[in-house]
Amino acid sequence: MVDQAQGEEAAKGPLRLKGRRVLVTAGPTFEPLDPVRGLTNRSSGKQGYAVAEALADLGAEVTLISGPVGLPTPAAVRRVSVLTAEQMLEACRAALPVDVAVMTAAVADWRPDAVAETKLSREAGPPEIRLVANPDILAVISRPGPERPGLVVGFAAETDAVEVHARDKLRRKGCDWMVASDVTRPGVLGGEENAVTLVTRAGEEDWPRAAKAEIGRRLAERIAEALTT
Ligand code: C5P
Repeated sequence: MVDQAQGEEAAKGPLRLKGRRVLVTAGPTFEPLDPVRGLTNRSSGKQGYAVAEALADLGAEVTLISGPVGLPTPAAVRRVSVLTAEQMLEACRAALPVDVAVMTAAVADWRPDAVAETKLSREAGPPEIRLVANPDILAVISRPGPERPGLVVGFAAETDAVEVHARDKLRRKGCDWMVASDVTRPGVLGGEENAVTLVTRAGEEDWPRAAKAEIGRRLAERIAEALTT
């Protein structure tokens, strides 16, 4: 039996997310056009992997749903590898229920409406590609209902008016927090560092530029605080 004092200690201690289930998405999605070509986004997956690792370090049971990236799976994290946005959504649904969802993935907004079974031939000339919309995974997971995680965190990669766009997305997608970064800053896309603004319903906080690992730890701390206060 855990008495109250032990419970309070666990809320502050190094494993303060013990017993909490967390879902993290990371990396790009890849939407095939034929067996060798496809549509994708620029995303190294580094920030998402750092968030997953930091949450696991606090004792959370982390499922990391990852698009194709060249990164090792962090220790004590369960990784599910996917390729397309539709596969990512299905894997997210399968991971529910969770206490927290952190959606860092750079999901392709569109996919080719048909996938050629064999490699499209160059000799046939440039193909006409029709695109169809992919599901907005963050918006789906944020929908009110019995399976909605208690805390849903989105990420927003912006090139201008960072806070305005992030706040607008927070409202449109129905998530609780947005972690916004200005990807025009040198070294953010694919680099080791990030500079982010945490946008919540209560306000905004600019976090100083730091290693992606440090941003991950800071976010994990904030999540632990939100769940234990
Ligand atoms: O609208 P935008 O793509 O900039 O929003 C970014 C946020 O939405 C990220 O958290 C990303 O993981 C999520 N997203 C998603 N499914 C999509 C597009 C974005 O989950 N199809």
